[in-house]
Amino acid sequence: MGKFLFDLKQPKPLQVSSFPNLQKNKGVNKIYRLLLEPKYSLTALRIQAIGSMQMKVQTFTVGKLYTNCYIVSCPQTGEAIIIDPGFETSREAAEIFNYMGEEALKLKFIVNTHGHPDHICGNGIVKEKFKAPILIHEGDADMLGTVGRFFGFRDSPPADALLKDGDTIKFGSLTLKVMHTPGHSPGSISLLGEKEVFTGDTLFAGSIGRTDLPRGSDKDMKISLKKLASLPDHFKVYPGHGPPTTIGEEKAKNPFLSWSWQTL
Ligand SMILES: [Zn+2]
Ligand SMILES: [Zn+2]
Repeated sequence: MGKFLFDLKQPKPLQVSSFPNLQKNKGVNKIYRLLLEPKYSLTALRIQAIGSMQMKVQTFTVGKLYTNCYIVSCPQTGEAIIIDPGFETSREAAEIFNYMGEEALKLKFIVNTHGHPDHICGNGIVKEKFKAPILIHEGDADMLGTVGRFFGFRDSPPADALLKDGDTIKFGSLTLKVMHTPGHSPGSISLLGEKEVFTGDTLFAGSIGRTDLPRGSDKDMKISLKKLASLPDHFKVYPGHGPPTTIGEEKAKNPFLSWSWQTL
């Protein structure tokens, strides 16, 4: 984006039909429909159009289990969320906080894709620093607290708000939708953007999260994987561990997506 076909100083009436290539692209057409709307200035619309399509994602791989912690931010407003702060050391915290300082980000929410200790053990450090509320699905809320101590992880403060399927998390001009994807744990969620999905430990590149841990379920996992496989192929997948991938790539190569269609 960025190449808008108009002159800001001398705006001319825009005709979508003048840009046959753009007519093929639904997303861009939507922007042009917006641009043709007279009540906005062109400058404001350009910012709005870019903002609605951009999401900055910074990945930090942290902790004993190499958890992916994501800082997702809106470049227009600087509002951000942190997904799965699975770090405990001050060195890791400093690296993430420095990034947020350099980018002048304002943290709105701490979001846990599920309640396992490797995804929540930094909740307290982040909450203390930014005073942001902790959000987790209602099915895993009871895993916050002292459960992780058992495995040598730091405690987490309790949730400030509980999520359920269909909820939306808004920050700046961005929205992530909560998709309940249980199986790895009862309250596992995926977070859906316009062209990306954060899958926690439900879906990894070439694999899936364990279902044999307490409260895991093969049956639920299969339903959740089918939900994820129904997303458009081009959707980028940001998993809880390991490298990013796409829905299309996983549908082609991940054996667990065909497993999800087998009856138990
Ligand atoms: Zn997990
Ligand atoms: Zn994990």
